[in-house]
Amino acid sequence: RQNERESLYIILNYAKNFYQKQLNDSEEGQAIGLSYFRERGFSGDIRKKFELGYSLDTWDAFSKEALEKGYSAEILEKAGLLIRREESRPGDRNSPGYDRFRGRVIFPIHHVSGKVIAFGARILKSNAGQKANQPKYLNSPETDVYHKSEVLYGIYQAKNAIRQLEHCYLVEGYTDVISLHQAGIENVVASSGTSLTVEQIRLIGRFTPNVTILYDGDIAGIKAALRGLDLVLEEGLNVNIVLFPDGDDPDSFVRKVGAEAFKAYLKKASKDFISFKTEILLQDAGNDPFKKAALIGEIVQSIVKIPDVIKRQVFFQRTSEMMKVDEQMLITEGNKLLRKLH
Ligand code: ATP
Ligand code: MN
Ligand code: MN
Ligand code: MN
Repeated sequence: RQNERESLYIILNYAKNFYQKQLNDSEEGQAIGLSYFRERGFSGDIRKKFELGYSLDTWDAFSKEALEKGYSAEILEKAGLLIRREESRPGDRNSPGYDRFRGRVIFPIHHVSGKVIAFGARILKSNAGQKANQPKYLNSPETDVYHKSEVLYGIYQAKNAIRQLEHCYLVEGYTDVISLHQAGIENVVASSGTSLTVEQIRLIGRFTPNVTILYDGDIAGIKAALRGLDLVLEEGLNVNIVLFPDGDDPDSFVRKVGAEAFKAYLKKASKDFISFKTEILLQDAGNDPFKKAALIGEIVQSIVKIPDVIKRQVFFQRTSEMMKVDEQMLITEGNKLLRKLH
């Protein structure tokens, strides 16, 4: 078992090197992958730091070379790199299957220790082989070393900065992490599109109790932020939220306004969860007293998720001021909910 995990790390590392080599040294990689990364503004240093790569737009460029090097089809499949053909067809014996990643730029996903455990791969318009119905991002499947729900993209590159600054930014995507690094913000990790999990929050909690959620400025991003927020509170971490203008994500926004203006925006637009909920939910509540009552209920529900009694007290106070309602009433409501929870 231990041995098999070791073999997976070795083949994944081999694959990472292969994809990097294709990006930097092959004609196709340079013409398509490298120019794509350059257009996105990723410098050579940043490409190296994140070990970015490119997979050729062919069926088996990777697995062919890996098999020649002596890696077995079984281990390639277990690593999520090879997709086996349905049945072994006569006359096709030399080709046990095809590469999972083809004609895409490659984002290696690192364990907190620095080992490569999986890949994310982005589609490119310029590859003729790409069908319109292919997903934008394709990821490694779950394997013995990759459990998606426990992984945060960028944690290996971010962990020292997170510890030092006692603060972690949480974004949605690979490119958000990379663009922020390039802008000099290194305490940043991505949940990579899945809705945030308890395991991911605990991973952040190993390095700092302070989290700021920077999700995309669209409906999906706001919904995900609201969901994530309660989970972070439940785990006892402190959470703030920054909303981006509609249609922007951290990557597009930092490239639009530049590093300095971006940092100023983070300061200015960062809200604690009560201000965030109030603002978001009050938008459709307006002056309707019933909707306002429902909103207060929502906020109290979030507050009671906070394990720490003193923090809870502070947030009841803040809600009372913001919503102009009696603090004692909020506490009474909160206590009712708490009794239901326990
Ligand atoms: P880009 O800027 O390259 O378009 P993005 O990171 O802004 O990418 P989003 O659509 O905002 O892309 O998605 C956020 C993250 O969700 C991605 O970085 C990726 O990790 C994950 N993701 C998005 N689409 C898919 C998909 N089809 N399959 C798996 N994961 C996905
Ligand atoms: Mn999005
Ligand atoms: Mn984006
Ligand atoms: Mn995005």
